[in-house]
Amino acid sequence: MSVTASLAALQELEREYAVATYTRNPVQFVRGEGCRLWDSDGNEYLDFLAGISVLNVGHCHPRIVDAVRDQVGRLTHVTNLYYTEPALRLSAGLARSSLGGKVFLCNSGAEANEAAIKLARRARPGGSIVVLQGAFHGRTYGALSATPQESKQAPFAPLVPGFVVVAKDPLALLDAVDADTAAVLLEPIQGETGIHVLSDDLLYAAREACDRVGAALVFDEIQTGMGRTGTLWAYQQTDVVPDAITVAKALGGGLPIGAVITGPALADVLAPGDHGSTFAGGPVVCRAALEALSICSDAALLARVQRFGERLATGLRSLPLAAEVRGRGLMLAIDLADGLDAPSLARRALLEQRLVVNATGPGTIRFEPPLLVCEAEIDEAISRLAALDVG
Ligand code: PLP
Repeated sequence: MSVTASLAALQELEREYAVATYTRNPVQFVRGEGCRLWDSDGNEYLDFLAGISVLNVGHCHPRIVDAVRDQVGRLTHVTNLYYTEPALRLSAGLARSSLGGKVFLCNSGAEANEAAIKLARRARPGGSIVVLQGAFHGRTYGALSATPQESKQAPFAPLVPGFVVVAKDPLALLDAVDADTAAVLLEPIQGETGIHVLSDDLLYAAREACDRVGAALVFDEIQTGMGRTGTLWAYQQTDVVPDAITVAKALGGGLPIGAVITGPALADVLAPGDHGSTFAGGPVVCRAALEALSICSDAALLARVQRFGERLATGLRSLPLAAEVRGRGLMLAIDLADGLDAPSLARRALLEQRLVVNATGPGTIRFEPPLLVCEAEIDEAISRLAALDVG
């Protein structure tokens, strides 16, 4: 499709026809390659958000493009009533790359968490789901009920019952988990609420608490997974092995997909008819995901993520506008110095410096570039931020 509509024309269509759930920036992107994006006026941007950790392999990676082109001309959809090779090869690849159990494929992050919640409740009927303060697990009803944020939950009450919210404190967590707990669901690094790395002590407490009562420990690796933190899955940098992980975002190399990967103990909990989805495991997205998984599993790339993450963190620390730098690998955030407003600074970075970043709250900006970012692009992003006049 060639670009024919001006930004103003799109804004008019949006006003008239799009449900107003998004606050869009006034830029129309029309092309992407690696860490770069181009707008409809031909301006080039440096992308340090990667579609919120979706384009870990970069925009239009040739292996993804080739696989999708090939598959879309062969077979796009048949449903899960039949066998297709990409879905089953992807399930095997995901299980072997992590917990060694079985995989349920779906279409998004929220759906992956919905499936994990159903799986935990199937294993312990009626059991509660323990979640942490500051968590974000998605916006469908189950996932929203696991997301203890007043502004997101309150307008949509009543929520799904059976969710218990606990402070990010090992003793509080140990205390909250009991024989009625079906699962503890947590993000090893809380992403949407500002890139907060959970302490090892908290992860150990979660494992101990679940072991004590036979509950499932589920890590939401939707944002931390696919190499983002310097290992394929973030849990691989701790001694704590969860019973299941949920995955989405970067798994599809830019196409929508989600998955629950179980360890052996939960592999056979769900039975035929318990769960399903029309589009889940479609051949096109699974071909893309097989390529994305292979690219993001590369040891040299993962080592680079760790090294370049340190370079980016060092650069961010050198900026007067940054009061604190947090995160791991290429999943980083800065808290801004007093008085600076993150949404307006992110917008200025986009419009004045052509640097794509995003605010996770009033005082925090997040950086999640494609994992294939190079040193020169990291330095360029820092220079662009440094060039912002913050008074
Ligand atoms: N879980 C985490 C940790 C996320 O970061 C997100 C999205 O930002 C989700 C779940 C929801 O994923 P989706 O938007 O694909 O439903």
